[in-house]
Amino acid sequence: MTDSPPAFFPARARIAVLTCEPVGVLDYLAPEQGVRQGQLVQVPLGPRRVLGLVWGEGQGDFDLSRLRPVAKVLDAEPFRPEFLDFLTRAADYTLTPPPLILRMATRAPDLDQPPAARPVIVPGNAAPQRMTAARQRVLDVMAQHGGAGFAPSELAQLAGVGSSVVKGLVAQGALTQIEAPRDAPYPRLDPARPGKPLAPDQQAAADRLRAAIRAGGYGTTLLRGVTGSGKTEVYLEAVAETLRAGRQALVLLPEIALSAEFLDRVEARFGARPGEWHSGITRSERRRLWHMAGRAQVGLVVGARSALFLPFRDLGLIVVDEEHDSSYKQEDVVFYNARDMAVLRASICKAQVVLASATPSLESWVNAASGKYARLDLHARFGSADLPDMAAIDLRAEDMKPGRWISPTLEGAVRSRLARGEQSLLFLNRRGFAPVTICRACGEQIGCHQCDARMVEHRFQNRLVCHQCGDTRPIPQACPSCGVAGKLAPVGPGVERIAEEVATLFPGARATVLSSDLFHSARALKDTIAQISGGDTDIIIGTQIVAKGHNFPRLTLVGAIDADLGLQGADLRAAERSFQLMRQVAGRAGRQAGTEPGSALLQTHQPDHPVIRAILSGQDEAFWDAEAAARQAAGMPPFGRLAGIILSHPDLGVVADFARHLAANAAPLVQAGAELWGPAPAPIARIRGRHRMRMLVHAPRQAPLQTALADWLAPHKPPANLRLAVDIDPQSFL
Ligand code: ADP
Ligand code: ZN
Repeated sequence: MTDSPPAFFPARARIAVLTCEPVGVLDYLAPEQGVRQGQLVQVPLGPRRVLGLVWGEGQGDFDLSRLRPVAKVLDAEPFRPEFLDFLTRAADYTLTPPPLILRMATRAPDLDQPPAARPVIVPGNAAPQRMTAARQRVLDVMAQHGGAGFAPSELAQLAGVGSSVVKGLVAQGALTQIEAPRDAPYPRLDPARPGKPLAPDQQAAADRLRAAIRAGGYGTTLLRGVTGSGKTEVYLEAVAETLRAGRQALVLLPEIALSAEFLDRVEARFGARPGEWHSGITRSERRRLWHMAGRAQVGLVVGARSALFLPFRDLGLIVVDEEHDSSYKQEDVVFYNARDMAVLRASICKAQVVLASATPSLESWVNAASGKYARLDLHARFGSADLPDMAAIDLRAEDMKPGRWISPTLEGAVRSRLARGEQSLLFLNRRGFAPVTICRACGEQIGCHQCDARMVEHRFQNRLVCHQCGDTRPIPQACPSCGVAGKLAPVGPGVERIAEEVATLFPGARATVLSSDLFHSARALKDTIAQISGGDTDIIIGTQIVAKGHNFPRLTLVGAIDADLGLQGADLRAAERSFQLMRQVAGRAGRQAGTEPGSALLQTHQPDHPVIRAILSGQDEAFWDAEAAARQAAGMPPFGRLAGIILSHPDLGVVADFARHLAANAAPLVQAGAELWGPAPAPIARIRGRHRMRMLVHAPRQAPLQTALADWLAPHKPPANLRLAVDIDPQSFL
């Protein structure tokens, strides 16, 4: 650990004020004992007291007597200089005001409250006299969380019962209420416990990572291998080495993959559960984890992307699993990619990064090819040899009846799985019943009132839903435009429509639809996934949520209903995305060691499309190389740089005028060697009643893009209520 002492300010300090609206960085008088950089404080702001962070030495040259004093220094571990450095550079990189970034780093409740004792519930020693469904749910939640100490209200909330149910269980001795210290350290993970004996390529990869961790500097490694090749087992060895070195480790997972299964695996390996950080944890866990990260009293944190902004005291390893996953990109308030920020943070705090994927992002692929990242490959699936057999179904040659989406060939393949008692997965990345509802009398397509988007029929809910703003309304009887009744028709398939077709084709089969909108909680989704794994389903019909990390042992067939879906559109990453998604989905088939390889069938109208051919051939490297060459020829990322500027306002005239004004004053961009494309209406030209325009700034790789953008935008004050967002390295052009 680099241990430069934090700067000390005896008299006055600049405090970053962490309110909802970015106030900025203000000068305050230090308390008598002075303050240190990185300390959390409370400061007065108008009539309020707000959270602040000591940012630097006071600078203003006005009268000391006019400054207000810091109200209170909070009892939290001060942010380390390396962490402040990371936050500053993340702010610079993403062109975000520092207080907004700092707010992400202080997103824990009650930071200004002392760590008092609090009542928590632990298992009791008696059986309840009478078991009810509600009581059982409470006990199940306790069991699922290893008897973890929840506050009574949290436990009731998690179990979805009233607090009287918990009280009743306590009264009967089935649960016990104790006073526990609020921010208790996490149980120590034991790196000395043996892991699984590794296969030779796993061993080689683990050795390299361990050596890098022992050496103690920064480095990034791309760990590549198909799903099931044993990557997790390898990076858990890197975690073990990090713990042995007395440092902390962070494993980032796409939110949906944050499953109990993963936590169980960590527990099996290290004898205790890691800290968890994601949208599903309770307020008190959130607060505890935040403090324990700062005091190095949690060894391993498993979390979603925002865990990267926890104030770890000594972070030695960051694993980004499924590093290509688009959920690592946040496109709200602060636009950042957690993968890139992981590399930034590690380079500052001298940590190792492991980027794990079967289908790396093109950026990581290019960085590995150029030697900027190390690369480790796991070649085979653990314990079994093959990827699934993959083939195209040429829809032009199939006898497709109107209103049918499952071709006769795919139907036959599913039938043979049913006969053998195996599972099939039909994949279509489209939620709902039909993407378009059209009036056969006037041709009108039913659209959202708030957005420039079509309403999608969701038949299970019996409503039309806008996938942009979430607005819903009943499915109308008559056309809202011409008033003719009985002529509205769904066009095209969504997963619900495929489910209907499955019910017609395979009446005896048990089918389950997996689509994010059909599950009101993460737990409901987990339960369904567990049921599928256990064999309660013959045919799974799913959107992209099935692509990620679930292990369905009896699944031997994957059928992609429309493999062409992602190939359309002008998006820079269309090919890359399609390739990754199809590969991931195909990888769900035949994952289990010792069984026959599964098979993946791709329904397509363009079997000769280069992306489809690349998926089928299994020659990933040829695909990445060709895709990299095409991007290089066009000067596109990662060989050139892009920034998206998104402007929105309820009035189209206002947004168009301001966009034109910015474009007319783009000299700072030109001077930096960048070009401005647009303004143009964004592909979704209106969302939630706000008109949207978009510009793209394209620059050579070495150009000072951020400085040029700041110089360009800073002098122009946007009109009231106009939102301007800068998206460095945009993932999509929506
Ligand atoms: P990946 O992360 O590449 O998808 P995993 O690490 O999850 O792969 O491994 C896939 C499966 O194989 C898991 O069930 C895991 O427990 C098992 N496995 C991996 N490596 C070994 C090993 N060396 N010995 C025994 N089982 C292993
Ligand atoms: Zn809408």
